[in-house]
Amino acid sequence: MHSEPSPLSLFSNRNVPLTMHGLLHHHAGLAPSSEHIAINHVNMPREAFPYPYPVANPAPAEGLRDFGEFLDPDFEESSYFHGLTGVDQYLNYLLANVMIATFFALLAFVLCYRWVYMGHKHLRHLMAMGKEQDQRYWMYNHHAKWASIKKNILYAPLGSVRHNNEYKIPLLKNAPSGMGTLPSRFHTLLLVVLLTTNTAYCLALDWTHLESDAVIAELRGRTGQLAVLNIIPTILFALRNNPLIYITGVSYDAFNLLHRWCARIMVFEAVLHTIAWAVNVHRASGSAQIALSLATSKSFAWGMVATVVFSFIILTAPAPLRHAFYETFLNLHRLLVMIGMIGVYIHIDAANLPHLPYLQLCFALWGAELFWRMVKICYYNVSRKKGITKVKVEALQGDACRVTFELRRPWKYTPGCHVHAYLPTLALWSSHPFSVAWAEDRTSAPELEMRELEKVPSNAPSQVLGISHRRPSAAARASSYGKDGVTQVTQIEVPTSKSIPREANVTTISLICRKRTGMTLALYNKADAMPNKTFTTWGAIEGPYGGHETFASYGTLILFAGGVGITHCVGYVSHLLKMYAQGTCATQKILLVWSVPNTESLEWVRSWMDQILRMEHRRDVLRIQLYVTKPRHRGEVVSNTGSVQMFPGRCNPSTIMAKEMPERIGAMGVTVCGPGAFADSVRKAVREVIEDGAVDFIEEAFTY
Ligand SMILES: Cc1cc2nc3c(=O)[nH]c(=O)nc-3n(C[C@H](O)[C@H](O)[C@H](O)COP(=O)(O)OP(=O)(O)OC[C@H]3O[C@@H](n4cnc5c(N)ncnc54)[C@H](O)[C@@H]3O)c2cc1C
Repeated sequence: MHSEPSPLSLFSNRNVPLTMHGLLHHHAGLAPSSEHIAINHVNMPREAFPYPYPVANPAPAEGLRDFGEFLDPDFEESSYFHGLTGVDQYLNYLLANVMIATFFALLAFVLCYRWVYMGHKHLRHLMAMGKEQDQRYWMYNHHAKWASIKKNILYAPLGSVRHNNEYKIPLLKNAPSGMGTLPSRFHTLLLVVLLTTNTAYCLALDWTHLESDAVIAELRGRTGQLAVLNIIPTILFALRNNPLIYITGVSYDAFNLLHRWCARIMVFEAVLHTIAWAVNVHRASGSAQIALSLATSKSFAWGMVATVVFSFIILTAPAPLRHAFYETFLNLHRLLVMIGMIGVYIHIDAANLPHLPYLQLCFALWGAELFWRMVKICYYNVSRKKGITKVKVEALQGDACRVTFELRRPWKYTPGCHVHAYLPTLALWSSHPFSVAWAEDRTSAPELEMRELEKVPSNAPSQVLGISHRRPSAAARASSYGKDGVTQVTQIEVPTSKSIPREANVTTISLICRKRTGMTLALYNKADAMPNKTFTTWGAIEGPYGGHETFASYGTLILFAGGVGITHCVGYVSHLLKMYAQGTCATQKILLVWSVPNTESLEWVRSWMDQILRMEHRRDVLRIQLYVTKPRHRGEVVSNTGSVQMFPGRCNPSTIMAKEMPERIGAMGVTVCGPGAFADSVRKAVREVIEDGAVDFIEEAFTY
């Protein structure tokens, strides 16, 4: 007798194995008859399942297989611990589709937001561009709610202030790495959605079923399906060249956070999947059957390998361990992930389960990205005529090195971008991220320099031109920045070339690498040991990455830099000054606030600052405030008036913001790059004034 189909009838009897015939009934809205129910689908071909999911090849010829040997031969027919017996595959795919749809809905939402944001900025840029433009309209928030959303959600830390400031283990306050950071409020919201939906999907089981083995089998199927599906975002979000970064403009940092959480959820589901399997096997025939299944089934054995490997990865990935042994962590991580994924692949393939396309997609994404990186690295760094990229390393005062790469092909530079630097003679197996502090086109530089030289009086000291390689004394360093700009430099403004586009092709890029404890220490020590503190080697860069913000639509820009974070800011300042001279940006006011421990750090960017301070209109637009937090003597910090001011002690971002807000022109952009605590104080200062005017906040963190 056939019952009347209800909207939920598709899910009724879902723990009961169905034959193809039964499923046809099912689709037709008919309840399967008892003759269809009785037959186990162990050897049923995959096309027997109604797959409402986007896979390339869901219907291979053979049925499920490789269950190993059984202590009791009856298990092959009736038990819940192998194949898809008891697994509600229909609901599994439905939920998988819901997850995929949710992902695309979120992506569409982010895209819409980004397009509106970029459209608004572009409009502002066009309307406010030019030196004399009246920008009063753009100064204010025209939607109070939007300012409140930015203050309380988008820019808000989870609590009141702390976001990028790492938690330290109380007993290890001086340890180089901390316990990690807290996600922002917005990111926490995303993570809560991710966690609750996954939990709900895992628990959407047929709890009314009388046999608990059936519920456990269903849980095994569900967690297995979700775990495999979650590998896709886990891999995608870890890729540096994740296409979503380009289309959404969301930072790698944010994707990295999502990568970590997707991975945690995926491993948790994989562990649950394995436990659910083991519980049913144990119930059926004890631990002897577990051992026998693992020994005689390739699928089970590799599934177990994958679960163990992924669990091990989670144990080795917490922030303190990760940061303490970053390179070892990264290389081991990649190796283990590869083993884990191969394990899952064999587990699925050997049993002929229908999830193989998910894994194939993961391998394809990873492989394609690796291939793309290799191609780009080779293209910019290797040439048949010129050989491999030459690298010059100079040890500077203030425990840092200037590393200059002479690329083999012109490279597109955008201010604020960073690269991954490869220096195989110092670190064979790793690359390190560094902001591009300065980029030049050296092919046309000599000609340009000659033209500029002609404009400079012949009695100007050579240091003005930044061509002196002599190290100035501490006093000279201080006064060089301190007296209303660079000593004599400020008297000479070099007209800016009118033909510099936003994305300039460059041939030479320079990085400032502060000495830490790994590769950067080896780099510094090697250069410092040389007679002229310089050595040359070969290497490569990979990138550019980041640099999505242009800042050209803001009438006022405040750049906060802490220590080596200045590398992120210098490029923006020089770029905006060039645009200002051309009349192609809205920016009319730039304040660069740089906090350094002592004046030795000024040496890092001296030659570039010299160039910036000589740029046309610099005095109309740019002010620099230097905060020297640990001056060794009073004379080290020369307090001045004018466009470069020096202060002893820490800077207080709240005071700076409160002073700058009433004097702003147009919309204000605030960016920060520096240590976590410093960045948090700037974030707090921005949130304090965000409802008083149009202010955007952009943070660049030097850590993943
Ligand atoms: C986007 C970005 C831009 C950066 N720009 C600069 C810059 O302009 N100047 C500068 O001095 N530093 C910059 N850094 C930091 C720089 O990458 C690290 O200081 C450097 O990698 C440390 O190398 P190490 O072997 O000496 O590290 P270690 O002393 O071994 O470790 C110090 C810390 O550096 C980080 N780190 C180490 N190796 C890597 C790696 N391969 N990839 C990512 N992080 C790593 C880890 O968090 C670790 O805790 C930037 C970092 C990022 C993420």
